[in-house]
Amino acid sequence: MGLLSQGNPLNWENTKKYADHIRAHGITQFVNIYNNLKDRQKDVLKWGDEVEYMLVELDDKKEKVRLVLNSADVLNTLQSQGEMINPNHPTLWRPEYGSYMIEGTPGQPYGGTMSEFNTVESNMGKRRREASSILNQNEILCTITSFPRLGCPGFTQPEYPPTPVESGVSKSLFFPDEAINRHPRFSTLTRNIRHRRGEKVAINVPIFKDKCTPSPFVEKFPVDDEESAMAALPDHIYMDAMGFGMGNCCLQVTFQACSIDEARYLYDQLATFCPIVMALSAASPFYRGHVSDIDCRWGVISASVDDRTQEERGLKPLKNNKYRIFKSRYDSIDSYLSICGIDKMLSQHIAHLFIRDPLCTYEEKLHQDDENESDHFENIQSTNWQTMRFKPPPPNSDIGWRVEFRPMEVQLTDFENAAYVVFVVLLTRVILSYKLDFLIPLSKVDENLKVGQRRNAVQEGMFYFRKDIFKGCNPVLDGTSSAQNGCETDGANEEYTLMSIDTIINGKEGVFQGLIPILNCYLETMEVDVDTRCTILNYLKLIKKRASGELMTMAKWMREFVAKHPEYKQDSVISDKINYDLFVKCDGIAKGAEQCPELIGNPVNKVK
Ligand code: GLU
Ligand code: MG
Repeated sequence: MGLLSQGNPLNWENTKKYADHIRAHGITQFVNIYNNLKDRQKDVLKWGDEVEYMLVELDDKKEKVRLVLNSADVLNTLQSQGEMINPNHPTLWRPEYGSYMIEGTPGQPYGGTMSEFNTVESNMGKRRREASSILNQNEILCTITSFPRLGCPGFTQPEYPPTPVESGVSKSLFFPDEAINRHPRFSTLTRNIRHRRGEKVAINVPIFKDKCTPSPFVEKFPVDDEESAMAALPDHIYMDAMGFGMGNCCLQVTFQACSIDEARYLYDQLATFCPIVMALSAASPFYRGHVSDIDCRWGVISASVDDRTQEERGLKPLKNNKYRIFKSRYDSIDSYLSICGIDKMLSQHIAHLFIRDPLCTYEEKLHQDDENESDHFENIQSTNWQTMRFKPPPPNSDIGWRVEFRPMEVQLTDFENAAYVVFVVLLTRVILSYKLDFLIPLSKVDENLKVGQRRNAVQEGMFYFRKDIFKGCNPVLDGTSSAQNGCETDGANEEYTLMSIDTIINGKEGVFQGLIPILNCYLETMEVDVDTRCTILNYLKLIKKRASGELMTMAKWMREFVAKHPEYKQDSVISDKINYDLFVKCDGIAKGAEQCPELIGNPVNKVK
């Protein structure tokens, strides 16, 4: 979740004083990087994945699962047994927001050859085994996007009561501060977001109305502050802390492009896929012990870090040179970067990141050498959590221009996670090789992102998608284009139309070729060894079947598990026992001890 510096973070009052200083130097730092490295060419294609994990305790006696708040110790052990003694160690471990979370990446980035696709899953397997091996006997490592009983009484081990008092970090009625990573960055972000906003964050997720769910669904909170009573909406699951969002796990991929232009092109093209791939990866239907009516975490995180004031959100008239801000810091992108190479685009992109205030600033890092440091730039950049991130090279490094693909939910097994990652990387290969153009107005990408989070969007959602992707840089999309401004019409003559995910992924006669058929075409032309080919085919089969509905998404599978559970009372409540049984089942599947053909299919076993 961003670079961790050592030092003393400033509170909001003091951070505010330095906001303009940080912005001014952050921009200078970006301009320096840009001027030094804009002509850098021929960096090789490299890429890597990031998987976020939860540490979970299975209490078989009480039939209860809890999140274990010892990621600091686990991380320490993993790093000191791995990267700290061996620079070529195959895994790297990093902290994440929750004190029950860790993040794992491959030790070295993957390269550009096809055979690398055959090593992703085994590296993920190494990570899972390595981290699992140092846990206590009744603890497991899980790749589950959202812990179903996050914020329910006693959801952590050790157990802590929430601290809804002014001096608390989150001030949450449900989420104890101890569940936040102990590194000061995380609590500072949490508190400063709350102070900047002027109130607690408010997350309202529509509840799934089952047969016996009270209607209207209105909760009474055991301890109440005025804020929550005002913020909680009827028929919604209400949450009031950054941890409900940033405490979720995801799967990300970062690419190094060969030049800044290629990075900008990939950034734009991949941005249009974010809602589609997010919906395909849907894995988070449950929040604070309830069944919700959404399948993806995105909107929850977006609200969980929304530091905008009421004025900026348009709820109160603006005063004193303030302006409205239309999105949370965690949202879909606001502008394309490459429309036929107009440089206004890049400056506009950086400018739009810099409308935000810094949230976590270290006293010791206030004064910087703008030629050789980029902390002020990174300060703002790393707290803009959008669907895509455009990453300039760090000063004085051999790293090139990169883009990060951020919308995916993490999957239960390494096989699935590898499949999604390889699918996205292959997509970048065909985009670059065939010079494909998927751009549609960003207002439509935003609409797609909303649709993509709905329950069962994979089967039922309709998404705006380009009809002809082989046209290259399209004049309609130039300059003051409709695409950029979103002032388009919905006429039948548009370059895009509404499609189902099945059509987008698998194709439909007379409508769209389908991404998988295009990937298969590309693979035909590549030299790929038989084993790698078989791996890739298994991955694409998963994606294909998830898109067609032949296989379930994790979200759908979890919903069915709960619906069929003997203790489920059709009241949208996930009890401790249901949660426990779900985790026992998930652990069996993740470890390969149990099959789950309805979720994963029957991938062809390879002789290794
Ligand atoms: N955990 C966050 C998510 O689910 C992402 C944090 C990060 O940027 O690494 O999207
Ligand atoms: Mg992360």
